[in-house]
Amino acid sequence: MEKEEEKYTKNASMPSDLKYLNRKRILQMIRNEQVVSVNDISEATKISRPTVKKAIQSFEEKGLLVSIGKGSSTSTGGKRPELYAFYCEEVILCIYLEKECIHFTILNMKNERIWEKEVSFCYGDTFEKFQHILKNNIYLILEEAEISYESLYGISLAMEGFIDRNIGIVRFCALAPEWGRNIPIKAWLEELFPKQVIIVENLVRIAGSSLLLEEEYRNKRMVVIYTEAGISACYIDREVFTGRNALIGEIGHMTIDYSDEEVCSCGSRGCFERMVSESRIQKKLKENPKKLSCSTMKQWIESDNLIRHLFEEADKGDKLAKEIVSYLAEMFSLMLKNVAINFDPEIIVIQGKYAYAGEYFKTELKEARKKARFFPEETASKLYYDMRPLRELQKLGGYQELAEMFFENPELYEGNTAE
Ligand SMILES: [Zn+2]
Repeated sequence: MEKEEEKYTKNASMPSDLKYLNRKRILQMIRNEQVVSVNDISEATKISRPTVKKAIQSFEEKGLLVSIGKGSSTSTGGKRPELYAFYCEEVILCIYLEKECIHFTILNMKNERIWEKEVSFCYGDTFEKFQHILKNNIYLILEEAEISYESLYGISLAMEGFIDRNIGIVRFCALAPEWGRNIPIKAWLEELFPKQVIIVENLVRIAGSSLLLEEEYRNKRMVVIYTEAGISACYIDREVFTGRNALIGEIGHMTIDYSDEEVCSCGSRGCFERMVSESRIQKKLKENPKKLSCSTMKQWIESDNLIRHLFEEADKGDKLAKEIVSYLAEMFSLMLKNVAINFDPEIIVIQGKYAYAGEYFKTELKEARKKARFFPEETASKLYYDMRPLRELQKLGGYQELAEMFFENPELYEGNTAE
């Protein structure tokens, strides 16, 4: 994707490339606005009115916008301008393998949700059963949403596990270990939907790419860390990195303390996700029963939202909660230091459970990060906390990836017959 863009900017002096860039800007503006006139576009983009007119005519022929009548006359009493709005029949289907269900969302090219459905599924069932249910439900949801097969531009399928996106192989699906290894799920979907673009990707990488929808993150070097039971990250520098074995970003298994007793599922010890897990927090709370009996944390010890309560109690000043939050902040600072020396990102975004970090955690983490001497505070990566749920993030990420491909297509910006 990046290469394509380079090519066009490098040769921007060539008329056809200039036309491509101009038309892309024009379409971008039409996509962002509710309604626009030729004048609006020309004024905002500084592209001449005849060029804008030609582009609009071409977009209309390609089914990317519609004329919606005339606006009110200008204050100087000029002619009433013709108004246009972005309109595209193509849609995107985002599928998310969630615990105990499969989640389907149909989005239009404006990133508006047009249909959403949840189908319960037991991942202990065979892969064949899954294929059967997935296939039938894709057809069913298209029918329910009254979307023709031809209008489906692409499908994004997101799940937890090791996924080799380039060849579309699921090395291991975390929800369904019984399915075995190296499942060619993309090839199967491509057979069913040969005209559609298919993306099969790790959930955290799809969720991370949702940030590329936002202007402030677009051209940044970033690490997006997702924290649930497991912890993994998505490395981005204008695009999401995968790595040779799709292992890039598995920072949950970064060794923080090899002398730690607990053996991780990966076979190692002292992995970051084990050091900051809920079970570790629980263990630390129970370490000293006397301390726990005087702590407000005693009411939350079995809570499903243990981490969130811990942050809240630390912010309220509970001594034991503060102690444990300080420890967690230190673990995070070690992980962040390792991320910095390997990738040196500008921005780090934390999503999931730790996105609910309270002020005490944030302050402690800031202090702990200062200890890493060769990272001056002013140039250290900026840390953001993103509390949006994964279900929303994977939709935005699926849209970002597929819409980007759709709107990058040079055919959309080619000349009309009149030229
Ligand atoms: Zn591990």
